[in-house]
Amino acid sequence: MKTSDALVLFGATGDLAYKKIFPALHSMVRHGQLDVPVIGVARSGWDVERLKKRARRSIEEHGGGVEAQAFDKLASLLGYIDGDYRERDTFQRLRKSLGNSQRPLHYLAIPPSMFPTVVEHLGDAGCADAARVVVEKPFGRDLASAVSLNKTLHKIFDEDDIFRIDHYIGKEPVQNLMYFRFANSFLEPIWNRNYVASIQITMAEKFGVEGRGKFYEETGAVRDVVQNHLLQVAAHLAMEPPIGEGGEAIRDEKVKVFRAMRPMLGHTLVRGQFSGYRDEEGVAADSQVETYAAMRLHLDSWRWQGVPIFIRAGKRLAVTATEVLVTLRRPPHNIFDEPLPDQANYFRFRLGPKQVAIAAGARTKEPGEKMKGRETELFVCSEGADEMDAYERLIGDAMEGDPTLFARQDGVEAAWRIVEPILNRKSPVEVYKPGSWGPEAAEKLTAEFGGWHNPKRAQSRCG
Ligand code: NDP
Repeated sequence: MKTSDALVLFGATGDLAYKKIFPALHSMVRHGQLDVPVIGVARSGWDVERLKKRARRSIEEHGGGVEAQAFDKLASLLGYIDGDYRERDTFQRLRKSLGNSQRPLHYLAIPPSMFPTVVEHLGDAGCADAARVVVEKPFGRDLASAVSLNKTLHKIFDEDDIFRIDHYIGKEPVQNLMYFRFANSFLEPIWNRNYVASIQITMAEKFGVEGRGKFYEETGAVRDVVQNHLLQVAAHLAMEPPIGEGGEAIRDEKVKVFRAMRPMLGHTLVRGQFSGYRDEEGVAADSQVETYAAMRLHLDSWRWQGVPIFIRAGKRLAVTATEVLVTLRRPPHNIFDEPLPDQANYFRFRLGPKQVAIAAGARTKEPGEKMKGRETELFVCSEGADEMDAYERLIGDAMEGDPTLFARQDGVEAAWRIVEPILNRKSPVEVYKPGSWGPEAAEKLTAEFGGWHNPKRAQSRCG
């Protein structure tokens, strides 16, 4: 059987289920994509009615509102098992509840420390036979723990049945990026070291750690978004065209990019911390955890040799926006009187929020007698692509057994290899002002490539 015939939601009472998973399930029902039992498992002492109430609130708050018919349907599919993951009995009850299900999908929206316990119990109780499993990031906290997590998963599940969610890969703008690269022929001749001067990826968040200080203390920006989301974006930009059809061909090419990236060097890393972070609940008074990281990456390949890829991510910055800027080299010879600026020719990809856009920067002539130029931008924007689509798409794909948009073991390990040398940097963080663009020192990184491009605040979806 190809499609999963039951969905088991470990962590049904948790934050991720509330913010992302229930809204996605509601959307799936609305779109006719979900018609199998959904069994929540947690230990809050709840019953199914309480879980339904929680699901309703979650959809109201994070899913754009409840559609009565779809919600009734979802509620009729919901079941709940109350029990501790450390007890066998929980899994025996789950086995019973699964009835004749032949290919359940187990979604582990739980603390990573619980992964081994749950996976082993699933195996012992016979819940893992022909089953699939979804794991949420983080996939380990360094290379060694990622290898160990993969070993645990592989004891019970085949690689083909493991779906590692990095929701960034499933996001509409990242899909859009991949489509734009490989559905057009005009890009390929210039998409290389001969024409591209530099690549920048910025993930800026105006907000801070939002009460998750304890979580963030263990994580920091590099582990939270660089090792996974932003390296994935870099791979989409740098990968070769996949050979052959199907998801594995795409995943193969992305892994090759990670393998070609040099492990990061400390001196091309700037770590920052916003002023006030240490006053957050759960944060140490002398915390050296980075809420901002900027770095320069090198790719050893024929296509990209010598083209720097700059990545920066930070909290409490000036705006919330994720943007890629691929800057082209200046024309080789200037035939006009006025100098041609750096960064005048570029491709800009806005990866949200609100806006999903692709823009191309070009110099055009100002009307009039003189051969004077101005900066112009060709701009294409798609409406209505948001985060929830990623979860809906990914849960649907996992239920179908389609691995294309999920991280693969070798890719996860290769990505850890890149950041490993900078993970435990003891260098002090540089404090920066909330609302700014991060520490001063980061400016030096990009200075000879025209400086950082700071994304603008989106006024509206496509405005
Ligand atoms: P929470 O702490 O909010 O939820 C954890 C869930 O696991 C709860 O339902 C909890 O049940 C259950 N649980 C934990 N231990 C046990 C146990 N021994 N027995 C039974 N149930 C248990 O975590 P999140 O939802 O925030 O995160 C879940 C996963 O998703 C993590 O791996 C996280 O890294 C990842 N993630 C989270 C994101 C987010 O925005 N929250 C974003 C991206 C990834 P109970 O409440 O009943 O104790």
